[in-house]
Amino acid sequence: MSISDNLKKIQKSLSTRVTLVAVSKTKPIESIQEAYEIGHRDFGENKVQELCDKYEALPQDINWHLIGHLQTNKVKYIAPFVNLIHAVDSRKLTKEIQKRAGQCERTINILVQLRIAKEETKFGLPYPEATDLLAALKADEFPNVRVVGLMGMASNTEDQEQIREEFTILKTFFDEQKALNSNLIQLSMGMSGDYPMAMVCGSNMVRIGSAIFGSRNYN
Ligand SMILES: *Cc1c(COP(=O)(O)O)cnc(C)c1O
Repeated sequence: MSISDNLKKIQKSLSTRVTLVAVSKTKPIESIQEAYEIGHRDFGENKVQELCDKYEALPQDINWHLIGHLQTNKVKYIAPFVNLIHAVDSRKLTKEIQKRAGQCERTINILVQLRIAKEETKFGLPYPEATDLLAALKADEFPNVRVVGLMGMASNTEDQEQIREEFTILKTFFDEQKALNSNLIQLSMGMSGDYPMAMVCGSNMVRIGSAIFGSRNYN
């Protein structure tokens, strides 16, 4: 199936309240263009250099999502144009986003990434630390940074019950935090392998790559 067929099929399977971020990392410009031509506008990348190159080469009305781990020293390259940073996992990174957003006279939307997987991973904040960062964001310590939701990646496992549990805990935390801060509207969870479960568990933003663009070759 073509990229546009895959995209249409997935779009149909999503409920209307769910935003689809098409994860185009490692894929060529032409692949993104194919999705763009049938009206898709939200694309996700996980490498800053690649994101910047694609931003330069493609139409200006694309909403670019930085979905992967972001190093502090690279924030400056994406600050002028990025639409949403999904994986904010430290106060240090938030501070740098504040600084660069201020310089660009922008407000940058972010999601705070939670460490929800039981498996070993170094990315994402444990719940207590996320609570502290969310409180600082709400207290307007970072006036050019707007937290609009939360993001999490479930364990890479076949165990559906485990995935359900990880997503459900994040959804519960999201609901608690949303009661404290009405800016929190996005819950970014679900990838090609687990997005149907993520939706069942209350996701309203899914990040889907290989199911749209085909499997990736890392060389
Ligand atoms: C690569 C990536 C995805 C998409 O993964 P697929 O399994 O190809 O859908 C989603 N989220 C993040 C953070 C990623 O790095």
